[in-house]
Amino acid sequence: MLDLQMTNEALKDKTALERVEFGISTFGKGAVLLSSMQKTASVLMHMFHRLKADNEILFVDTGFHFHETLQLRDEFLHRYRLNIRTLYPTLTPEQQEEQYRCKLYQTVEGQPACCDLRKGKPFLRHMKKEGHKLVFGGRRRQEGSARANIDIVSTDPRFDGYNLNPIVDWSSDRVTEYLQEHKVPVHSLHSLCYPSIGCQCCTTPVMEGEEERAGRWRHLREEGRRGPAYCGINFTDGSGI
Ligand code: SF4
Repeated sequence: MLDLQMTNEALKDKTALERVEFGISTFGKGAVLLSSMQKTASVLMHMFHRLKADNEILFVDTGFHFHETLQLRDEFLHRYRLNIRTLYPTLTPEQQEEQYRCKLYQTVEGQPACCDLRKGKPFLRHMKKEGHKLVFGGRRRQEGSARANIDIVSTDPRFDGYNLNPIVDWSSDRVTEYLQEHKVPVHSLHSLCYPSIGCQCCTTPVMEGEEERAGRWRHLREEGRRGPAYCGINFTDGSGI
């Protein structure tokens, strides 16, 4: 059991790499990274490479990803020989559509179920099956909203373990600097006005002046409705899974 207050205090002045090292040395193979294949995931995957960690890096293939997302996963596999584990939902997209008699992602009511079936459930099933107790993530306070006040380490009751965000206090510029300094591969759509990337059917480019996540679930915010902000795979985003 971690003393959260003491651990957060102790990690406050450590570097991001030292925070990753702490998680791995404390939880061994039970410490895994959940990778979205976005910029912050590129940073953390590269840190696993620097530490020569063969801990699992989990990537959930929803069946709706851009092919550039799968390409980046493969590039990390080949270039750094990381232990990337691809997880799949129980149902194929076609089976899901048949079972629910609709494309769930097309409606505000259906989206939470779609994200749960295609992201949350495969992730949590794997965490529980393997008995993993710590998941690293790339969330940052500068992203605002539900992420504005997150701690470096917090509990995740869904698998009776912890979340650790090693770059929680990094700015977007710091992320970019790291990627450039270490020549780390990044998702090719980031340079085509996609600062935040999820499934293809729920992600659009952003226009000048829009927030970073404005392109996510844009189709569900039409008609003045607020729409979803997060998919819920991360407990600190307010997941109710
Ligand atoms: S982002 Fe869209 S397509 Fe992907 S799992 Fe969530 S609702 Fe389904």
